[in-house]
Order: sequence, then structure tokens, then C-alpha cells
Amino acid sequence: MKPGGPYGRVYVLRLGHRPGRDKRVTTHVALVARAFGANGLVLAGVCDESVQNSVRSVVERWGGPFHFECGVSARRYLESWRSAGGEVVHLTMYGIHVDDIVGIIASSPKPKLVVVGAEKVDRFYFDVSDFNVSIGTQPHSEVAALAVFLDRLFRGSWRRIDYEGGRLGIVESPRGKRVEEKG
Ligand code: SAM
Repeated sequence: MKPGGPYGRVYVLRLGHRPGRDKRVTTHVALVARAFGANGLVLAGVCDESVQNSVRSVVERWGGPFHFECGVSARRYLESWRSAGGEVVHLTMYGIHVDDIVGIIASSPKPKLVVVGAEKVDRFYFDVSDFNVSIGTQPHSEVAALAVFLDRLFRGSWRRIDYEGGRLGIVESPRGKRVEEKG
């Protein structure tokens, strides 16, 4: 499959990134987004070179395309996403359990903006999102929530993503590391 699958575009909007302490978590949000079938990450409010460089380096080595954008106004981005015909899925422990709603989300062909937070997420996002989705009602992590949601959305087909470019690929093996350099 191509990133975005049947929806054309699936982007992740990351709220609340704090450059002092979230570099690693936000980088992991980006890596999970890319590996599980999203087309890009939008980092709201700030730009963080270290996150941007890590994403760029992964795309260069392992392939893409994967869009990265930062410093945008989350509210404006979300509103323009919706007015362009896309829909918004906010991942939160307070939402409807993924199993009870993912069928409806998956059956709509609209591009999807998946919103994940850091600490407290403003009420605005709960109100403006088309779907508030929980991956269970226990607090855990935006990285885990995103991975489970994308897996359910794509029903596992992210496994067959065809990444373009990139220098490296892995050959599955029961033991050891088999990495191939692409010609
Ligand atoms: N109280 C927050 C909430 O609304 O889910 C938990 C904050 S958590 C540190 C940061 C982000 O992880 C949240 O904004 C949400 O996107 C995601 N998250 C954490 N637990 C989740 C869960 N059980 N279901 C869905 N998303 C979750």
C-alpha cells in the first residue's frame, strides 16, 4: 500500500510539544506515523530542529515520502483541513473506544487528520473533532495510542507499504540482522 492508503492523506497533528523535554517522544510520534501508514507529521506551535533532523535522516535512509511541517497554528490547520473536506480524529482516553468507532471512520474515504496531545488538551479539540477516540480508558502514551489507532484504521496493511527511495531495507530473519543496501 501507499502511505495514506485509501484515504489519500492521513496526517498526524502533534499538539503541545515542549522542546526541552519532548524531543524523543515527538520523534517517536513521527516514526510511528511513518511506519504505520501516515503521510506526514505536523508539529503545532513550534519548530524543533532535532525532531526535524531525525525525521529527515530516517526518510533518507529508509525511504518515504513523509511530510514534516512545524510551527503552524493547530487551530487554523485543523479548520483548513476540515474546510478542504478532511475529517479530524482526536485520540484521547476520554473518547469512544476504538473498536466501537473505527469501522465508521475507516468506511469514510475522507483524508484524516489524527490529533495527539502531550499534557492537557484544550477543550476546543474535543469539540471540533469529528471523532474523539480512546485506545482504552487508561492513561498511556500518544506513541502507543497512535500505533494502535493506525493499525486498526489500516487493518494491518501498513505492513505492505512500499517506501520510495531510501538506501536501506531489512530482510526478515529469525535471528541476527540482515540489512540490505538498495542499488
Ligand atoms: N489526559 C490525557 C488524554 O486526554 O488522553 C492523557 C495525556 S497523554 C500523556 C498524551 C496524549 O496521549 C493524549 O493527548 C492522547 O493523545 C494520548 N493518549 C494517552 N492515553 C490515551 C488513551 N487511553 N487513548 C487515546 N489516546 C491516549
